[in-house]
Amino acid sequence: MIIVMCPDASDEQINHVIDKLAQHGFGIHLSKGVERTVIGAIGDKSAIELSALQILPGVSEIVPIRKPYKLVSRELFKKDTIVKISDKLKIGSTQPICVMAGPCSVEGKNEILEVAQIVKKAGAAMLRGGAFKPRTSPYSFQGLGEEGLKYLALARKKTGLPIVTELMDPRDVRLVAKYADVIQIGARNMQNFNLLKEVGKIKKPVLLKRGSGSTVKEWLMSAEYIISEGNKNIILCERGIRTFETATRNTLDLNAIPLIKKLTHLPVIVDPSHGTGEWDLVSAMAKAAIAAGADGLMIEVHPHPEDALSDGAQSLKPDTFGDLMRELKVVASAVGRRM
Ligand code: PEP
Ligand code: MN
Repeated sequence: MIIVMCPDASDEQINHVIDKLAQHGFGIHLSKGVERTVIGAIGDKSAIELSALQILPGVSEIVPIRKPYKLVSRELFKKDTIVKISDKLKIGSTQPICVMAGPCSVEGKNEILEVAQIVKKAGAAMLRGGAFKPRTSPYSFQGLGEEGLKYLALARKKTGLPIVTELMDPRDVRLVAKYADVIQIGARNMQNFNLLKEVGKIKKPVLLKRGSGSTVKEWLMSAEYIISEGNKNIILCERGIRTFETATRNTLDLNAIPLIKKLTHLPVIVDPSHGTGEWDLVSAMAKAAIAAGADGLMIEVHPHPEDALSDGAQSLKPDTFGDLMRELKVVASAVGRRM
């Protein structure tokens, strides 16, 4: 629930309410606005008599949070969250559109250094690349592991681009956090609750992809797992869902973008590469995503998609990626955003 304090409530009155709530086992989230203070209380409502809370000095009103997700809900925090990646880079509604680009997998040192230069030149703000790959077949390339993380770190050193890379196993949290600027939780692990709890315990930004069979509500409940452990630095990523339509790899759910903006304060980006599965559909859907209000994009780029160790069919060649970045500028400015 949300306890809205009177505009003239004193610090003493605010602290008194907080103490009362804490005594009854509520988690407290304080938001001190210019006008008034709002206290978010997460816990079992039946543990406290609401009428007793209502008459405490300084309390203006008590508003229940109706959604099952609380801390990620707009009901609790009205203002958009801006996630800080580095001193120079932030992601969210007041920030330029953030494009994360790179190969599906880190394939080798020279390859990742080459792609990093290419995407940087085209204007990407971050480098993507998986070192731990969630593959459908155990016989497919599984990623280079820590070696791949080291190559990513080298690419960051050479280009200055922060890196986003996937974490699959709770046992690797410290390892991946040591190298990554943003930890990606992939679609297949969106409901790996132990993994979500582990990344919730650290401060590193988390990119939470939507599971291909998950509803928006389930996706937000997964974000709630992370935030409820203390990590507020969450970026949501729509990457397509499975529908009856099998003509494309997934169906990119662009409805989710304005819906997410309505339901939560978290930034949201779109991955049209996995969303379509076909390179020649990627640019159109990337532009559509920005028009729909996404705060960024994740795009797979490979200098030789035909030789890629994973997801070559949906990877853009450098020239096509360069063209897209130019076109995106026009779309972004049409919807009042910068690149
Ligand atoms: C990826 O980003 O390469 C990836 C495996 O994504 P997803 O989890 O969305 O399938
Ligand atoms: Mn991929």
